[in-house]
Amino acid sequence: MAIPKNTMKLPRYAAENRCELTDFCFGPTATSRLLLALTAISFWAMSIAVAQDALPASPAGPQIAVALEKVSSASIQATIEKLVSFQTRSTLSAQDPTAIAAGHGIGAARDWIKSEFERYSRDCGGCLEVKLDTFTEVPGSRIPKPTEITNVYAVMKGTDPESAKRIVLVTGHYDSRNSDNGDITNPAPGANDDGSGTAVSLECARVLSQLKFPATIIFLTVAGEEQGLNGSHHFAQMAKSQGWDIEAALNNDIVGGDRSPQQDTGVVRVFSEGVPTAATDAELRQIRNLGGESDSASRQLARYIADVDRTYATGIKPMLIFRLDRYLRGGDHISFNEQGYAAVRFTEFREDFNHQHQNVRTDNGVEFGDLSKFVDFDYVANVARLNAATLASLASAPAPPARVRLLTAKLENDSTLTWDQPAGGRVASYEVLWRATTSPEWEHAQSVGNATRVTLPLSKDNVIFAVRAVDGQGHRSMAVTPLPER
Ligand SMILES: [Zn+2]
Repeated sequence: MAIPKNTMKLPRYAAENRCELTDFCFGPTATSRLLLALTAISFWAMSIAVAQDALPASPAGPQIAVALEKVSSASIQATIEKLVSFQTRSTLSAQDPTAIAAGHGIGAARDWIKSEFERYSRDCGGCLEVKLDTFTEVPGSRIPKPTEITNVYAVMKGTDPESAKRIVLVTGHYDSRNSDNGDITNPAPGANDDGSGTAVSLECARVLSQLKFPATIIFLTVAGEEQGLNGSHHFAQMAKSQGWDIEAALNNDIVGGDRSPQQDTGVVRVFSEGVPTAATDAELRQIRNLGGESDSASRQLARYIADVDRTYATGIKPMLIFRLDRYLRGGDHISFNEQGYAAVRFTEFREDFNHQHQNVRTDNGVEFGDLSKFVDFDYVANVARLNAATLASLASAPAPPARVRLLTAKLENDSTLTWDQPAGGRVASYEVLWRATTSPEWEHAQSVGNATRVTLPLSKDNVIFAVRAVDGQGHRSMAVTPLPER
């Protein structure tokens, strides 16, 4: 490690002196203080449970836990090796019948992915609607001539008519490249980038299609990523123009856990935008005024993933990176962010740049190329578990509370939040979350029963609040931060 020995450690003020920081803590005295205050202030107070110190992990759904055990590294390995067998999946490579029959090029890969989704659907009594989103991309800097691009996806419609309008989505890109992004014939195995992400989407479909969920799940694989996010851009734009309510998009790109000695196989990075890419000028002003730089819907999704990981045994820890993507890099989640959707990117802890975007070769004893042998299939399986657990939790949960507001009509040291019941109902209770303004994750949760208005003896100036909905089995919705209302 390159950290100098004399590096100064910051005092852990925020973590250890949280009570001083918020002037509110949950020792016995403070708990009674809270209960007294709550009892004194309004009619719903009797429904308030005893406040909890740490944020409790959400309870595990038994069905979801069983499904996660069915995620298989052997199945993922078979998917990745099949994708590599097409030799190149360059978006510019062949997709004519002869090439498809020979099993070469992106057209053959597209047809195989479609046939896999159809196979899973047969195994669940036709529960998946398998679809193609095909369009012709006009020439651009990385597209020399008009090129047909196809996204392949499977829709598992929710079982509850109202909740089925809500969509959670997982995606990976099935196109690949080698050293030359214009090379359409030489090998571009793309085992890790992004055979691994494609395998996560397929594995989630295989396993979750055995269950039923109130909300809709879409399992997506896109092309054109290496040419400029073309496939995901087209898909997200179509979703927006058709008014789809995509609550979360999980993009998996380079989740192969490259087998370099410096890899940490226990960690996957989760990148999320802070200030929303799609924010209007008015929204940007509000973010500046209120310190909302770390509270985009995508950031709430990242926190949700961390919460899911505390609930289910996935075998991997998400490392939340509060950044849109890595330096100099982009990915398909950005296409969803641009349309105003919450979206994050999963990527392995440490990338080996000799094993991505490289011609397959050996130079001075160093192996280059994105080959299957560098992929850790158990690692990909763990990432797939974390994705599947997140999709299943969100698709089981009620919709997030609507019109969440923080009342600011007068200057006071208490904070009053209001919200509306979400469409689709299925809410057993609501939880108010809060954290210090300096803290990355939610620190406290307070159940308020089925009230839609609460006053807490906490100053809104000192903390960040959010509200989430909980169903009868304990499935949590995404957290929603309030807008101020006079
Ligand atoms: Zn990629």
